[in-house]
Amino acid sequence: MAEWQSRWLHSTKGRDVYELYKEAKENRIQGDFFLNQLITGHGTIGIHQARLFHKSPSCQCGHSTEDRHHIIYQCPLWNSIRSKPLPLNHSSISMNLIFANYKSKMGLIEIMKIKLQSALQPIEDEDDPTH
Ligand SMILES: [Zn+2]
Repeated sequence: MAEWQSRWLHSTKGRDVYELYKEAKENRIQGDFFLNQLITGHGTIGIHQARLFHKSPSCQCGHSTEDRHHIIYQCPLWNSIRSKPLPLNHSSISMNLIFANYKSKMGLIEIMKIKLQSALQPIEDEDDPTH
């Protein structure tokens, strides 16, 4: 455990996760595919797509950078979902508390499911007469 903690503290990898979970613990596994995208900053999140696949890092709302902070706190596309499970003053609440709250987690999972469905939509080809 001490070696794991030391490696976790000094690593340059997984810093999005480290920001939330500074202590190495065996019992912290989150088994949700959608929530893990936000915890790790991976999946369909714009900056991750840009880093891996050279896609645009921008958000569908027009913001230049889509990262987990933008999705959780700022993006107007998710205002209606955020307003239900997340407290109204959620922008002042730390990400740790948001991820620790069941209702908040359910809202974030809903957002990430919609994002994935959107990412999996076929791209319209304007030159293809079948579309
Ligand atoms: Zn946005």
